[in-house]
Amino acid sequence: MLVEVPFGRINVPGLVIEVTTYSHLNDSKLKTVLQVAPLNPLDSRLMELAYFASQYYIHGLGETIVSAIPKWWRTTSNWSKSLDRLKLETKGLIELKAKEKMPSLEELNEDQRRAIQILNNHKQGIFNTFLLNGVTGSGKTAVYLGFIDSLLKQDPGAQVLIMLPEINLTPQLQRRIQGAFPRETLAVLHSGLTERQRGIAWYRAMTGAAHIVLGTRLSIMTPLPKLAAIVVDEENDSSFKQQDGLAYSARDLAVWRAKNERLPIVLVSATPSSQTWRAAKEGRYQEIQLANRVGGFQMPNVELVPPDKKSHSITMSPVMIRALEQNLHKGRQSLILINRRGMAPVISCSSCDWLSECDHCSSYMVMHRQLGHFKTPMLCCHHCGLVKAVPQGCPRCGDLDLQPLGRGTQKVEDQLQRLFPQVTVLRVDADIARTSKKTEALFQEIHDGAAQIIVGTQMLAKGHDYQNIGLVCVLDADARLYSNDYMAPEHLFAQLVQVAGRAGRFSGESTQILIETRYPEDPVYQYIKTFDLAGFMEHLMSIRQEAGLPPFSYQALVHAEARQKKEGLTWLNHAKQFLQRTAHLQTGITVFDPVPKSIARVGGWERLQLLIESRHRAPLQALLNELEHHLRQQSVGRVSKVGKVRWSIERDPLFV
Ligand code: ADP
Ligand code: ZN
Ligand code: ZN
Repeated sequence: MLVEVPFGRINVPGLVIEVTTYSHLNDSKLKTVLQVAPLNPLDSRLMELAYFASQYYIHGLGETIVSAIPKWWRTTSNWSKSLDRLKLETKGLIELKAKEKMPSLEELNEDQRRAIQILNNHKQGIFNTFLLNGVTGSGKTAVYLGFIDSLLKQDPGAQVLIMLPEINLTPQLQRRIQGAFPRETLAVLHSGLTERQRGIAWYRAMTGAAHIVLGTRLSIMTPLPKLAAIVVDEENDSSFKQQDGLAYSARDLAVWRAKNERLPIVLVSATPSSQTWRAAKEGRYQEIQLANRVGGFQMPNVELVPPDKKSHSITMSPVMIRALEQNLHKGRQSLILINRRGMAPVISCSSCDWLSECDHCSSYMVMHRQLGHFKTPMLCCHHCGLVKAVPQGCPRCGDLDLQPLGRGTQKVEDQLQRLFPQVTVLRVDADIARTSKKTEALFQEIHDGAAQIIVGTQMLAKGHDYQNIGLVCVLDADARLYSNDYMAPEHLFAQLVQVAGRAGRFSGESTQILIETRYPEDPVYQYIKTFDLAGFMEHLMSIRQEAGLPPFSYQALVHAEARQKKEGLTWLNHAKQFLQRTAHLQTGITVFDPVPKSIARVGGWERLQLLIESRHRAPLQALLNELEHHLRQQSVGRVSKVGKVRWSIERDPLFV
């Protein structure tokens, strides 16, 4: 029960989690509840989820629950507004823009009908995890919408939660859902809404008025009294993992919630995460395959292209330029993917080799042709946000010859616009897509065919159903591969499949994806040539198993940030000693040495981490609980008393 209570001199919202008839406290110490919210925000099952999340992710229960309740409902002055008025306002929010029509069941192909059949055969009231796997464009969305259709026909009061990794993807799925279910009420929940909109969507979910709830990771904690199924689309996407605070995986919590509420859950992906893949292979998840793209469309032909060696001024290889020309001739659009925004990742002095390093981070400041309201070239640190004008001359030796090195989206855009002055080149990256409205407008331009060449970051690769892409070029593909993160190949493979999936959503013509790499022999590229997911996953699994890495083990990180590296190191070594002293170490747990993170300094803070690996979940959980308890005793909150080290513990990290 959500209430308002006095706290010191102020009144604050509070949550009643238990009622008792007796208290040890003196009557004078007991306070009176001032106001009770006109609704019950967290039912018992949601409380169970919050308890679990708080325990598993080693986060305070209060913080965990509070993050689940929209701010609008935590603002006690909103409570006195009558619910009737709110209900009225809610009505106005239900948009009915039935633009896109879902292919009706008759139009679905045999694979899709069989897939829906399997899902429909599932008995209600029983937990089961399905993996819906098929290449991009194989009609997976149509399958889960078909499944939802039958669920809602069986029980018109039922509710379904659909989770998407990115707020950018919600508008198009929203339209598709509204087209398919014009009579059902839909509530959309993501961080791009105003607090009020979120409060209202949440209210509609909680009261059962919304039958379909579409949301990003934060929607996992939505109260849904009549929840009948959960769908997690693009389940392998790292956006489902929150990186700070309550560092939860919304996908993992969704599976837990489905289990706790005895529901079917459908994990959807063209490239399942290694964890999901293993579960499917072991029969813990039930795999449903869609073998082909719908409409007989083909995946693009893959070609591995060496980067152009000649000079820094040439940004794309002649092979790619020729392919672009041909594709333009055919009247098709081209996507150019480069995972670096800005003009050049660093500028350098040609006489003394000075590099544009950030003052506060161990990384380089990226040169931008322009940035926000700055219309002249600027240097910007992508880690701490520091912005500076590009210096006139070298700060070290005064030489005026400063050269941008490497390339980012702006440079590629410039070069292509020079090479093809007659066509429209559109850039899509975080610098340009600053608001969700602007982002949607950019994607609409691509859909409408207003641009022939589109240059952008990973934002471009995801889920969009473009109809006319004939060519995809991926620049600097290796950049992700040769980091020391063991997850990098898995992420790269998924990204390449995803961006390849934007091409060829029409028939009768072959399309292409050109991938720039220095290491064509690398297994990622060899398997991508034939889009051999199973082959790649088996390869990945054998490596992981041999090395004892997830999904064959479980990991946790202790993060530390300190002003001085020495202090962070001392703190983590202390944590390590504690871990080694603790008895659980006999049960297949390895504690590694503390190390600096790959970006060792950000915003003046030295960043270090300590990795813990365990063959089983339970002993790791027990160990982490003890560690947290121990560290807490020597800290104020999560800042150590000695050395002022900011620390946190993360479960199942995605970037190690
Ligand atoms: P995925 O989720 O696997 O990428 P979608 O379900 O989004 O695939 O389908 C890709 C495109 O094909 C969409 O535009 C969708 O409307 C359309 N589509 C899906 N199933 C069929 C079908 N059986 N016949 C024709 N078009 C279909
Ligand atoms: Zn110099
Ligand atoms: Zn910086």
